[in-house]
Amino acid sequence: MRIAMVSEHASPLAVLGGADAGGQNVHVASLAAALVRRGHDVVVHTRRDGEALPGRVTTPDGYEVVHVPAGPPAEVPKDELLPHMAEFGRFLHEQWQEKAPDVVHSHFWMSGLASVLAARRSRVPIVHTYHALGTVKRRHQGADDTSPPQRVAVERLVGQEATVIAATCADEVRELVAMGLRRDKTVVVPCGVDTDLFGVAGPVVPRSAPRRIVSVGRLLPRKGFADLIAALPMVPDTELVIVGGPPDLTADPEARRLLAVAQSLGVADRVQLAGQVARTDMPALLRSADVVACVPWYEPFGIVPLEAMACGVPVVASEVGGLTDTVVDGVTGVLTAPRDPRALGRALRTLLADPSRGTAYGIAGRDRVEAMYSWDEVAARTELVYRGLAAGRLVPTDRLAVAR
Ligand code: UDP
Repeated sequence: MRIAMVSEHASPLAVLGGADAGGQNVHVASLAAALVRRGHDVVVHTRRDGEALPGRVTTPDGYEVVHVPAGPPAEVPKDELLPHMAEFGRFLHEQWQEKAPDVVHSHFWMSGLASVLAARRSRVPIVHTYHALGTVKRRHQGADDTSPPQRVAVERLVGQEATVIAATCADEVRELVAMGLRRDKTVVVPCGVDTDLFGVAGPVVPRSAPRRIVSVGRLLPRKGFADLIAALPMVPDTELVIVGGPPDLTADPEARRLLAVAQSLGVADRVQLAGQVARTDMPALLRSADVVACVPWYEPFGIVPLEAMACGVPVVASEVGGLTDTVVDGVTGVLTAPRDPRALGRALRTLLADPSRGTAYGIAGRDRVEAMYSWDEVAARTELVYRGLAAGRLVPTDRLAVAR
């Protein structure tokens, strides 16, 4: 099939860990590569955010990236991109008039808008994946939410206009239904993980304490790193390594805030902010942990728990969003209440005191990832959705076993 992906701010070629570069970039890159392996022709459209970027690039994985000229050819925060989506949509429309794809898969609400604008006239079916929802962000971040005020209304419009909504977890489906969107055109296709890169065997970075907790993510308050630091006094003989943020942390306000919290609680000597870590170095770092903690206030999906599970490391996660699908409490890790450092401290201390339980969770985590979350598995499910479109029906991927 000819598949056009649209990922306006999240380029599959971007460096990860910065403010706007995280799970969506990984998702788009890995799904595109896995669909190419299944014999499809995949083009990813992303905004041209640098003068030097060529119009088209063919990646070593075999998919093409088109840098769409929409707005200035420079980095623009994603919350300021909405005014450029009409231009983005016009470009897509022109491209698709020349050669229409069989299916468009848009990622994030603004890509959905550009795709809906472009496909309206070309009548190409659209599969839309939100990755994150404005309603959820507003609920949790309140006045700190810098999304444009139109976001929630546009998200609803995109959900109405899209042919199929591909949610990434059951919790998201509940949110979509609460927005008034149709359950009968919504399927669940989770994010995946590179099970070759993230494996049980391989190098392990050295550590400086008897036990180690690793936590990974963009340095945002909602990722819950401060809650982890606040839990640390309850977890003796253990260091905490926080990965993510810009390469140089000295000027980063969130990094400074976290260090101040650690100092005020007397655990600064046990907290290490590692800054941005290259994707290829991430497995060795995850394997160095006795436990990987993913304790956001909310999380649309969360790829890091899958990466940890793929490395055979148990996960302590907050009981929110996609984490309630991926982490099985008492089997692959422990789920705890979000924003509750005491509950988190208890969960970490108990698990770290029982290494054989941690090992068992790690083995079960790897099994679970291999069975459900390899990108080949996720691409097979995605392809079922695309093929269903061509046949005019919806394939309930959350209920069906995958036919290869
Ligand atoms: N990541 C990385 N280097 C960093 C920080 C994060 O490679 O310094 C990767 C991480 O391994 C994961 C992704 O960025 O693959 C973050 O995805 P997740 O879904 O956990 O969070 P998001 O950023 O989408 O909120």
